[in-house]
Amino acid sequence: MFKKILIANRGEIALRIQRACREMGIKSVIVYSEADREAKYVKLADEAVCIGPASSTLSYLNMPAIIATAEVTDAEAIHPGYGFLSENANFAERVERSGFVFIGPTPESIRIMGDKVAAKQAMIKSGVPCVPGSEGALPEDNKEIIRQARAIGYPVIIKAAGGGGGRGMRVVHTEAALINAVQMTRSEAGAAFGNAAVYMEKFLENPRHIEIQILADTYRNAVWLGERDCSMQRRHQKIIEEAPAPGIPRRIIERIGDRCAAACKKIGYRGAGTFEFLFENGEFFFIEMNTRVQVEHPVTEMVTGIDIVQMQIRVAAGEKLPFTQRSIQMRGHALECRINAEDPYKFTPSPGRISLWHAPGGPGVRVDSHVYTNYFVPPNYDSMIGKIIVHGDTRDQALARMRTALSETVVEGIHTNIPLHRELMVDAKFVEGGTNIHYLESWLGQHKR
Ligand code: ADP
Repeated sequence: MFKKILIANRGEIALRIQRACREMGIKSVIVYSEADREAKYVKLADEAVCIGPASSTLSYLNMPAIIATAEVTDAEAIHPGYGFLSENANFAERVERSGFVFIGPTPESIRIMGDKVAAKQAMIKSGVPCVPGSEGALPEDNKEIIRQARAIGYPVIIKAAGGGGGRGMRVVHTEAALINAVQMTRSEAGAAFGNAAVYMEKFLENPRHIEIQILADTYRNAVWLGERDCSMQRRHQKIIEEAPAPGIPRRIIERIGDRCAAACKKIGYRGAGTFEFLFENGEFFFIEMNTRVQVEHPVTEMVTGIDIVQMQIRVAAGEKLPFTQRSIQMRGHALECRINAEDPYKFTPSPGRISLWHAPGGPGVRVDSHVYTNYFVPPNYDSMIGKIIVHGDTRDQALARMRTALSETVVEGIHTNIPLHRELMVDAKFVEGGTNIHYLESWLGQHKR
């Protein structure tokens, strides 16, 4: 096992990885930007090194600075967390070429899955069902694009091959709007992702977002750890996640889970990963694979009792998965609310000093957050300041625990989306379970203030 790991991230996930290392008796090195100097996990770190100014280009995305820090601190491996460099194949390659272990899949897997066109092709080959769409990237020929759209049937969605974070997508309802939409998405994708390739999919009208967590080691063992329902989204960004997905028969989930594990074996995937699907009329359609730990991983940890971050570290160190598919047991129900520093209804970011932070507690309640009273939320990064996760024997119990947890939480000095979560946890449709990916936005439309 490693003696020392460098954590190339910030915020709650840096703390989460630091905790995993501590539990395993591994020392950790935190790299931080000038804006994160005050963070407690930085102060409490075994070692902490400032690698640049607030701007993430100069700090959390600064590959030479991160690798140099690993060198001077004698770290053996680098954990990239999520976001930043976690899905950057060049970074993974540079880490490994410099003699460190990248805690994640091979650069090659990251590269394939980071190109959504290549990822879909790999999935089709592995027998994972995909959303019907263009065969690969869209060609230059407009006539051909029109022909493909007709064959798929409107509405279609134009998506950037290199897209991520819910950006680089455009829904097209009529042929008249098609070519313009393709051109706009192309130029945006070129500017935002450095890859102008776009592809086309059938736009599913009322799907749910269901994803499968997998874990694989370097001996071609792969398991899936159940599913998560992440349909509560705004602008394609998840805000509430849960496991298991309400109302979907186990045998349907098992079939897709087994396909995902089989695909991992086939492509020689290693580490943690997530297969994201849209689920409509009892069918799963693959949309993309995330080759990293996800924000919502705790709900899976709560129902399986498996520490996903520790497993990432173990398989990166060359250990075999310590369980088989049959020994994985799912127990109860878990929910996660992402707490964002933002106006709960207008969604404008609300960075600044937190004058009072009181976290909830009690049975089945977990809080993953790096903030504390008097912490300053820097304006430079993502607005998520933490996650409240609850577990119960049943979904009803989990909901009751989340309501209690949210009612106990106090955050003063900045705005957060906690009031929105409080309302959603008593919303009849959400409580019933199984809402689709458009539900939250239409709810927000009806509850304008
Ligand atoms: P990203 O990598 O930016 O997160 P995804 O491909 O995972 O992009 O899609 C994000 C979200 O966009 C999905 O959860 C869903 O809400 C919506 N979406 C993507 N593809 C489709 C589609 N074919 N039909 C309907 N909605 C879609």
